[in-house]
Amino acid sequence: MDIEKELNEELAKSLRKVGEVWAPWRSAYISGPKKDGECVFCAKVKAPLASDRENLLLERGKKCFVCMNTYPYTPGHVLILPFSHVETLDELDEETYAEFFTLLKKWQAIVKKSVGAGGLNIGINMGKIAGAGIAEHLHMHIVPRYFGDTNFITTCADTRVVSKSLFDIYDLYLSNINSKEEK
Ligand SMILES: [Zn+2]
Repeated sequence: MDIEKELNEELAKSLRKVGEVWAPWRSAYISGPKKDGECVFCAKVKAPLASDRENLLLERGKKCFVCMNTYPYTPGHVLILPFSHVETLDELDEETYAEFFTLLKKWQAIVKKSVGAGGLNIGINMGKIAGAGIAEHLHMHIVPRYFGDTNFITTCADTRVVSKSLFDIYDLYLSNINSKEEK
């Protein structure tokens, strides 16, 4: 067996997988099950407040909301969205746009503090061709990154390990948002 060739193949395989942690085109992970074409994001907003935990909805603002991604790229993956079912940033009125980014600033801090992330990937996949799983409802991703998350979890285990349950992280986020507001 040609060792060099084998190593090169392994390296190429690893490099492909590094990119997969930020792999928005794997829409199955973010789109999830949909009922009769109903938008899953609009459904969260329309649901009663009592179902917010069940829906992993973290915060309702005036024009925007924050929820956890049910199919996280990494543990603690959060989404920021406008209430309005629009596809692009251009369609947001000034107030919504301002709140969208205010929530981003607030939540990137909460995420970083809560889950001990070494860094974050923050971004929007605008449009199907850009990789949006649910292109019709604009959403911003906050993806915590952990030391070794690509070279160990993704490369070796060939799957993403979500070590804490979604609801554990949900509760952790809520306790941090509340403790912050009490000050
Ligand atoms: Zn929607």
